[in-house]
Amino acid sequence: MAGRAADSTVLAGARVVLPTGTVEDGRVAVESTRISDSAPEDARVIDLPGHWVVPGFVDMHNHGGGGASFTSGTVDEVLHGIRTHREHGTTTLVASTVTGEMDFLARRAGILSELVEQGDLAGIHFEGPFISPCRKGAHSEDLLRDPDPAEVRKLLDAARGTARMFTLATELPGGIDSVRLLAEHGVIAAIGHTDATYEQTVEAIDAGATVATHLFNAMPPLAHREPGPIAALLEDDRITVELINDGTHLHPAILELAYHHKGAGRVALITDAMDAAGFGDGLYDLGPLAVSVTDGVARLVEGGSIAGSTLTLDTAFRRAVTIDRIPVEDVVRSISANPARLLGVDDRVGSLEPGKDADLVVLDEDFVLAGVMRKGEWIIEPKTA
Ligand SMILES: [Zn+2]
Repeated sequence: MAGRAADSTVLAGARVVLPTGTVEDGRVAVESTRISDSAPEDARVIDLPGHWVVPGFVDMHNHGGGGASFTSGTVDEVLHGIRTHREHGTTTLVASTVTGEMDFLARRAGILSELVEQGDLAGIHFEGPFISPCRKGAHSEDLLRDPDPAEVRKLLDAARGTARMFTLATELPGGIDSVRLLAEHGVIAAIGHTDATYEQTVEAIDAGATVATHLFNAMPPLAHREPGPIAALLEDDRITVELINDGTHLHPAILELAYHHKGAGRVALITDAMDAAGFGDGLYDLGPLAVSVTDGVARLVEGGSIAGSTLTLDTAFRRAVTIDRIPVEDVVRSISANPARLLGVDDRVGSLEPGKDADLVVLDEDFVLAGVMRKGEWIIEPKTA
């Protein structure tokens, strides 16, 4: 692992995935912190035959990693969690909180907002407390509340402009007004942990919701006489669907169905990771709830609900290509470009284009992570022959 800035570096001889397609024997030039059109004669050349170079991953739904929680950890612990995910290719990351007391979440927003302002995080995602007790997943039932626009505004204010997304059960009282308020502020209203009907979901989309929080998980299943939220979220082009591709949350056939139905431009691969991601099995806290992680699967100690994942995005990428048979270019869109666009940071990250941050991932021919660069600096430097 190295932290050396690459003043002028050229990655050569790799398959480079650009917005326009894959270039065999391609080159990526890096000048200081950015991707550039060309490199000077004396630039350091790194040959990467048989490798892929893809944009750095963008995770818009992530609760922690490396043993650290974004909801409860100290600033140093949060930074360690961020670092852990960077080592797995996630160069842009939104910190997600889980349900807590309103005052606690407001204080937490203050702490996380500083990490956004200094460039370590791309924003805050509030998952709860405005979610359905019927689909609470790993959230404390006694702390759940109806989505009150005044309380949404309180969290927006506490986050000082760094809130990027709220997950809401939009069918609850105040849900539609909260969606409108978020849309007015340019913050993503995500439908999730919801018990909505098909019709209620359509109403929320019409009000301005644009994301489905981990589609299929924590919502009623698709049924032929009760299509529920899934049919509405799949069919509407205004919605991008989050998918957790860890092999536990979704069957590969369901992942393929979502890609097929939405098109690669409307899928965002996320981790929904909790503390154990990049760390290991054991006992953890998810907010106020105890979670046991066994063989990489996180479940509530009480009741056994799946409690987030231990996924990292390099694994999500590899699974999508090698198990789910999604074309590499489509995976790149859904793991980098789409979330970057939703978060409003696609002018800087999300694709390999001159002028953008030099955030990139090097994968070997088996799609195993071999290198990570963020803003021109190697987080993990690829070993070259
Ligand atoms: Zn989550």
